[in-house]
Amino acid sequence: MNKGQVFIISGPSGSGKDTVLSQIFKKRPEIVFSISSITRPMREGETEGEKYNFISKERFEQMISQNELLEYNRYIDNYYGTPAKPVREATESGKDIIIEVDVNGAAQIRRKMPQSVSIFIMPPSFGELERRLSCRGTEPREVIEKRLRSALNEIRRAEEYDYIVVNRDVSCAADDIISVINSRRLTVENQKHIIDEVLRKC
Ligand code: 5GP
Repeated sequence: MNKGQVFIISGPSGSGKDTVLSQIFKKRPEIVFSISSITRPMREGETEGEKYNFISKERFEQMISQNELLEYNRYIDNYYGTPAKPVREATESGKDIIIEVDVNGAAQIRRKMPQSVSIFIMPPSFGELERRLSCRGTEPREVIEKRLRSALNEIRRAEEYDYIVVNRDVSCAADDIISVINSRRLTVENQKHIIDEVLRKC
């Protein structure tokens, strides 16, 4: 059995990444999503264990010291990290997994897993990003400004990724990402067993 692949997905807050991701999982429910452990307070509409496990700073620091994280980063005074075990379990059982992280997290995973594929979700314009963040209405102005500054820094690092998908239309962006995932399955590296299988019968 082939190992599953790791797909890293990043995009600034306000790029529409969450909506694109939920479309991908609707279209491809067999793909696993890596649930991050984070220390920021839960926002309205969020559910424990869906996208995030909300944990204390003390527990997060324990996970760092016990080497339980594949990567982690501090973002606007909170910790965000990817537990290593579920990623290992998914890939070893042949399942593809999507890890949604910021640009620093993506760089850490790429170093540890050079075979991973990384995709950056880009908003159509900075104006649109600003509009989406302000419309959310869940956060104070200074947090929105911090998110905008951080978004600019993330966009400057989009070149580090293997693919850029512009989110002009959610369904098209999800299909673009699914195409990347499908094409990865078709590489020779991933299908060497087929060559052996065909040759064995000749
Ligand atoms: P938010 O607070 O808007 O949910 O997420 C803030 C940022 O944290 C986003 O850029 C998101 O991609 C990133 N993020 C989410 N989970 C992780 C993670 O496990 N590790 C890292 N490094 N970043 C994450």
